[in-house]
Amino acid sequence: MASIVTRFAPSPTGYLHIGNLRTALFNYLIARKQGGTFILRLDDTDQERSKQEYIDAIKFDLEWLGLTWDRIEQQSKRLDRYRDAAEKLRADGRFYECFETPTELDLKRKKQLNMGRPPVYDRAALSLTEAQRDALRAERAGYWRFLLNQTRIDWEDGILGPLSIDAASVSDPVLIRADGQVLYTLASVVDDTEMGITHVVRGSDHVTNTATQIQIIEALGGTVPSFAHHSLLTGPQGEALSKRLGVLSLRDLRAQGVTPNALLSLMARLGSSQPVDLRMSLDEIADGFDLSQFGAAPTKFDAEDLWPLTRGDLQARPYSAVADTIRALGVPDDIAPQFWDVARENIGKLDDLSAWWALCRDGAQPVIAEEDRDFIAQAMTLLPPPPYGPTAWKDWTDAVKAETGRKGKGLFMPLRLALTGQERGPDMGALMPLLQKVPVREA
Ligand code: GLU
Repeated sequence: MASIVTRFAPSPTGYLHIGNLRTALFNYLIARKQGGTFILRLDDTDQERSKQEYIDAIKFDLEWLGLTWDRIEQQSKRLDRYRDAAEKLRADGRFYECFETPTELDLKRKKQLNMGRPPVYDRAALSLTEAQRDALRAERAGYWRFLLNQTRIDWEDGILGPLSIDAASVSDPVLIRADGQVLYTLASVVDDTEMGITHVVRGSDHVTNTATQIQIIEALGGTVPSFAHHSLLTGPQGEALSKRLGVLSLRDLRAQGVTPNALLSLMARLGSSQPVDLRMSLDEIADGFDLSQFGAAPTKFDAEDLWPLTRGDLQARPYSAVADTIRALGVPDDIAPQFWDVARENIGKLDDLSAWWALCRDGAQPVIAEEDRDFIAQAMTLLPPPPYGPTAWKDWTDAVKAETGRKGKGLFMPLRLALTGQERGPDMGALMPLLQKVPVREA
């Protein structure tokens, strides 16, 4: 079998969001699993909306996730290729010039809908005479449509199964705008063909595009790749996610503290018949990844699901993997590994470490129940000042127990609350040696 070539083709007109990640990841995994090639293709023919800032951000996000590409391509550097393709289509009679304004087209659509007909472009431009065309050209620039063969277009979709679309139900696609801008549909098929793309995986909003693209590829004499369309993501309640995608950008999720393993583990299985579980590398994620296990139904995405995975990912990290972060907090080197051991069970994201370090360094705001005031006052007289050794907690609680007669939860919980201000948290025996200050002593 020829080697697999896939591409992820974002338009650099915004930041990548969780929906884009799904597309990128699927294409990456398919290529990686088979030792194929994964291309990052920047669909930047829209010069006005495409920005270098977004190109940089897209690369940064992908690198952060480890979704590295074998090659990068940029459509704005290939405009001559698209012009050649347009020339061929024109010579073959598959390209025709149109002049209707958006208002005229809109009016036609409304009329068709009123008559209960599908709003498909009526090909009026095909019947213009040369003289009429010249007259129109003198007024305004024309734009170019591809002449579809009005047959059924069939393909076996890698996720949706056998699909069949009647080309007569689709308008001839505009491939070049009046201002000369080559549109995505043409640029994409020229690239897919010339770059030898074997598998195209993208969102199901592209299903109709695929029908027309198959005909254009054939008209250009290219080989039609395999297509697979993954379902679109919805919110947890099934609500459309499109408006919220802005806040589900990868950079925002990163800023919130979500880890790459958490994101990748969730997105490589969500919407498939396989369970989501935390995986620690892209190799582990690729293992068992299978496009055919994904369903056609919209996939519910709940950003909350990323947190338990993030927590699990962090907890599994050895000290060496977080040493820089911990050092940056100002934790002295001699206690830094211990600090990680104690704190890691008690964080949901790396940022939470700073609160634990503040607690160790400055002491907590104690929480003392009214009925425990005397008890704590008495207990504090039995607590020596820091630094504490490994038996400090046991020594202290033994002494308090002997002095007050309290035991069990009635003994330990008020003492924990007095030292940490929290009902739950690290093992106190392990935490004590990290405490630099016990503010409650001064109370
Ligand atoms: N630039 C297109 C998009 O982001 C690419 C679609 C495709 O994969 O062909 O929707």
